[in-house]
Amino acid sequence: MPVRIAKDRFVETMQTQAEIGATDDGGLHRLTLSDEDKAVRDWFAEQMAAAGLEMRVDEFGNMFGRREGTDPDAKPVLVGSHLDSQPYGGIYDGALGVVAALELIRALNDHDVDTAHPIEIVNWTNEEGSRFQPAMQGSGVWVGAHDLATEYAATDVDGAVFEDELERIGYKGDVPCEPSEEYEAYLELHVEQGPYLEENDKQVGVVTGIVGFTWGAITFYGEADHSGPTPMHYRQDALVAAADVITQIRRIPSTLGERTVGTTGYIDAKPNSINIIPDEVTFTWGFRDPSDDVIEEARTRVLEEASAAAEREDLEWEYEDRMQAPAVTFADTCVDAVQTAADDLEYDSMQIFSGAGHDATHMHSICDTGMVFAVSENGKSHNESEYTSWDDCYAAASTIANAAVTLAEEVD
Ligand SMILES: [Zn+2]
Repeated sequence: MPVRIAKDRFVETMQTQAEIGATDDGGLHRLTLSDEDKAVRDWFAEQMAAAGLEMRVDEFGNMFGRREGTDPDAKPVLVGSHLDSQPYGGIYDGALGVVAALELIRALNDHDVDTAHPIEIVNWTNEEGSRFQPAMQGSGVWVGAHDLATEYAATDVDGAVFEDELERIGYKGDVPCEPSEEYEAYLELHVEQGPYLEENDKQVGVVTGIVGFTWGAITFYGEADHSGPTPMHYRQDALVAAADVITQIRRIPSTLGERTVGTTGYIDAKPNSINIIPDEVTFTWGFRDPSDDVIEEARTRVLEEASAAAEREDLEWEYEDRMQAPAVTFADTCVDAVQTAADDLEYDSMQIFSGAGHDATHMHSICDTGMVFAVSENGKSHNESEYTSWDDCYAAASTIANAAVTLAEEVD
């Protein structure tokens, strides 16, 4: 029997959380460790207590609630996401995954369902990475990808220190920020933040993995000269070479994978003056794809293009790799559990890659991990106009609830 979550209560809970840090235009401004973050955490703690969960807060502010299983040897299934938001972000990003996890617990309580495995729900600290960097910080420390002391020392643009802010809002907990036992699985529901489900007329996304990426920067060195007297054939224009390569960063993806994307998000041209030929230009590349080979191919191609452009314009040049993350492929057990749940509930679904990183990226390194996507209207997110219909939210929440119960093994 599928687990039925109560739709009205679920929608009402989503609306309640959306009031904490609400913006005038229907969005959410709930930055990590702000007063609004404290308020939503206080609210979430109350909801967990009311649902009979045993709460713990770790030293990095990650909040967990645990519902025991019947088998003392069974490993917990963890379900959750994040309650912090982007500046003037949407009301679904992150929060939908936490509210769905809470509703899963409430539904199990409603219907007196026992599971062999414990089920834990989680609100990760600072997924967004907008006030303090990096993104996915709480889950990153928890799995050991980041060092606690280093992340405590992170500062925001006003110089506020992460650890001080965590103490100020009262969420520096007493439990170490690390798993104290092995986990059976981690599941996360999130809005898609892309257009694929809507384009394909599907209600639920069965996420099979997360794209990897390569980030780097290229600098061209030319010769600054007066833009009037210098004839064209004398010029060593660093910006012209950069323009050539940036155009290729836009074109390379369509020659590679179906999901390959390429972006130049940053450029610095010197001296950046209307009457001078630019002599030093730095710009970035970013490529993402579900295949590490494709990512590497894109990186190789952009460096070849840079070399050719430097030769044409007679420039010196250099490059710097800034960051890379391999693509993540989720565990079959989790993908199958999500797919089966969507099928049993008769939702139109499709298997899909995530184009953005999530806390699931880190969790993948310590246990079987899977995700469910809800439809994002027009693919929009990190924006007040982010929208998912309540029907689509409910479909995705029902899917993750049933997948979690499958993995946690319902007891008759
Ligand atoms: Zn998010």
